[in-house]
Amino acid sequence: MASLYDLIIIGGGPGGYTAALYGARSGMSVLVLEKLSAGGQMGLTTQIDNYPGFPEGIDGFSLGQQMQQSAERFGAKTLLAEVTEVSLQTPIKEITTSEGTFQARAVILATGATPRMLGLEGEQALTGRGVNYCAACDGMFYKGKSVAVVGGGNSAVADALLLSRVAEKVTLIHRRDSLRASKIYEQPLKQADNLSIRWNTTVSQLLHGDRLTGLALQDVQTGETSDLTCDGVFVSIGRSPASSLFQGQVTIDQAGYIQADESTRTNLPGVFAVGDVRTKPLRQIVTAVADGAVAVHYAEEFLAQSH
Ligand code: NAP
Repeated sequence: MASLYDLIIIGGGPGGYTAALYGARSGMSVLVLEKLSAGGQMGLTTQIDNYPGFPEGIDGFSLGQQMQQSAERFGAKTLLAEVTEVSLQTPIKEITTSEGTFQARAVILATGATPRMLGLEGEQALTGRGVNYCAACDGMFYKGKSVAVVGGGNSAVADALLLSRVAEKVTLIHRRDSLRASKIYEQPLKQADNLSIRWNTTVSQLLHGDRLTGLALQDVQTGETSDLTCDGVFVSIGRSPASSLFQGQVTIDQAGYIQADESTRTNLPGVFAVGDVRTKPLRQIVTAVADGAVAVHYAEEFLAQSH
């Protein structure tokens, strides 16, 4: 593998591999650096029904593999390696990995974000078996059922409202006595008559057999405990963007997202951010994929100007 590329992409999720496909097709030499396997967060999703073109849906792992193959068909290369250090402020950017150091004229940051977990016993094992982190992705599995949503921010309220149109009953569980979510949600929350809010309440335990059967709750003011029977819980307490490697070089907002607008350009020339790690209103596969194509458009423009 040559060590100087036109384009290095850090992260092999949908945004990263779409950028690789577009970059390779436009004649750039492209290297994707991926830590584990293609697909990123998507690779952990068993059934994806909101990515067009798959009438029966598709599992995220297969979709990730297919995105990788699509990019490699046009000459993009993948290296399974962990990035340990980056130097992005010079015209030739340097990426140090567990498998060696690589140079690039342009870099796309596509490292994604992981949903924050409650940190309860059994949470990981029950993920996909009653415990969920994405209402837009998994809400349809709860048609006519009873679900809970944890959190009090915009995501939790948007998730609760979405689920109220699908599930029979929705309980929003928030640890304080007021929501962090914006006022525009007040009216729709009042109008959703199958939605109730448990204030000042935390989840202390996941109740389960093979699947989740309910939640043990605790009132944070009185200490009183109670059980809530439900078929599913949606944990919506924020995400952790994987941006720490880039701290001090690209501009990162308070929540840890890399600052970039719809052009995907960061504050640094030749450095772009795509997908869930970027500041954006909707974090979905389709929006990550769109970012990948847009980033290459501006990377091409940048490379043409810097030659
Ligand atoms: P967020 O605004 O950080 O809210 C996280 C919520 O989870 C807070 O209510 C927080 O409680 C609660 N929480 C955090 N850790 C918890 C824990 N361990 N146990 C129980 N509750 C916990 O995150 P977000 O809702 O994902 O939103 C992220 C960003 O995207 C925000 O800037 C948001 O405005 C934006 N967004 C916007 C829209 C929209 O405009 N339509 C939709 C979605 C997201 P506290 O309130 O007590 O801290």
